[in-house]
Amino acid sequence: MALLRHTTDDVVERQALTVNPAKTCQPIGAMYAALGIHRCLPHSHGSQGCCSYHRSTLSRHYKEPAMAATSSFTEGSSVFGGQANLLQALNTIFSVYEPDVVAVHTTCLSETIGDDIPQIADAATAKGFVPEGKRVIHCNTPSYVGSHTTGFANMTKAMVDYFSTSSGDEKVAGQVNIIPGWVEPADMGEIKRLVKMMGLDGITFPDTSDVLDAPLTAEYNMYPKGGATIEQLEATGDSSGTIALGPICSGPAAEALQTKCGVPQETLPLPIGLRATDMFIQALRKYNGGEVPPEITAERGRLVDLVSDMSQYFYGKTVALWGDPDQLVSLTQFLVDLDMRPKYIITGTPGKVFLRRIGDVLGDGVKDVVVKQGPQADMLYIHQLIKREKVDLLIGNTYGKYISRDEDIPLIRHGFPILDRIGHQYFPTTGYRGAMRLCEKILDAFLDRQDRDAPEESFELTM
Ligand code: SF4
Repeated sequence: MALLRHTTDDVVERQALTVNPAKTCQPIGAMYAALGIHRCLPHSHGSQGCCSYHRSTLSRHYKEPAMAATSSFTEGSSVFGGQANLLQALNTIFSVYEPDVVAVHTTCLSETIGDDIPQIADAATAKGFVPEGKRVIHCNTPSYVGSHTTGFANMTKAMVDYFSTSSGDEKVAGQVNIIPGWVEPADMGEIKRLVKMMGLDGITFPDTSDVLDAPLTAEYNMYPKGGATIEQLEATGDSSGTIALGPICSGPAAEALQTKCGVPQETLPLPIGLRATDMFIQALRKYNGGEVPPEITAERGRLVDLVSDMSQYFYGKTVALWGDPDQLVSLTQFLVDLDMRPKYIITGTPGKVFLRRIGDVLGDGVKDVVVKQGPQADMLYIHQLIKREKVDLLIGNTYGKYISRDEDIPLIRHGFPILDRIGHQYFPTTGYRGAMRLCEKILDAFLDRQDRDAPEESFELTM
């Protein structure tokens, strides 16, 4: 905190230094995606320290135990490779913890060594360490490239590579794959609810609803009831189509499924906000004969009514945002639709399409907005921008709380990770109802500030 108070508004062009990155490491995303397979134990092929960081970050965000195993690399594995450790681990995991699937992701160290995971998994099978009907899948997640979002994308694509099968050219009418992207468990539940209301048989993968937001019962269950089953993942190859939500997190899996099984795919923005949810519903209409049930129309109408009631308070308010590209694009669109003014938008996740997508959303307004991506698009940079010219609102993960306090600007926590609040995993921000919740949070932040700062003669009881 004291260090942040010494942040200056003098932005120096940096080439090699990142200060407080606006991203986390790849395996965290792979682990989160793997938890969206029913009875799956994620496995971190690297040191105990990596696994403990990945698990603790997920547990601190979701406030649930994130179960995972590790190859527990020591100095010897660093020199000779991690094959012996992974073989022993698979033998122990299947005999003690009895998962249906072990989802192995690599780490910086095992990638640098060059461990060949499929070859090690084959060796484990040959030795009888993988029981009949059980599966080992893998993805590569070196964390010196990408971010937690690309790790999520890689593990989601691995689900297609290892499981999806096509039983012929005939596809199942009304069966649609939904790849929800990195959103909260409650968002996955909300997306599934909308698909069901549209009368469709959706296969959602990965699906962390009822895994990381499972109810408290008197019994400990290492594998909660949620998650996509092996049978569902195999059946994705016979679906009529795939709707991928968020090109960074979901696009690679949808494209792989199209190539592997001939399932046509459509990649959309995450359904955060009115316009993006409209696009999602329109995409679903292609599979149900075009009907939109009156309940969904009513939910949309309520959101429009709420926005019209609130719009006078939103108009012209400036916002700084940071986080993951898929979320930022949809959030920015929603803020623009609310007549607010995104002013600074940064993501630490590298990639080619983000700047173009943000440019499409902002249109001519892009010239008034600072948009930055990559290692130097960090929390120091956005703090310096804010020091130069303040904004009315911050939207991003927990790491912005220092800026919020230092600059006295309200913060709406959104994205990953949220380490200092509880409950976000239970309430969606996707769909029309999620957009209503977002509007309420934004307006509450403005009005709480107004009540705090208003002189006594204009401290109003009624809006
Ligand atoms: S950045 Fe690399 S070394 Fe650090 S926790 Fe992630 S995988 Fe492990």
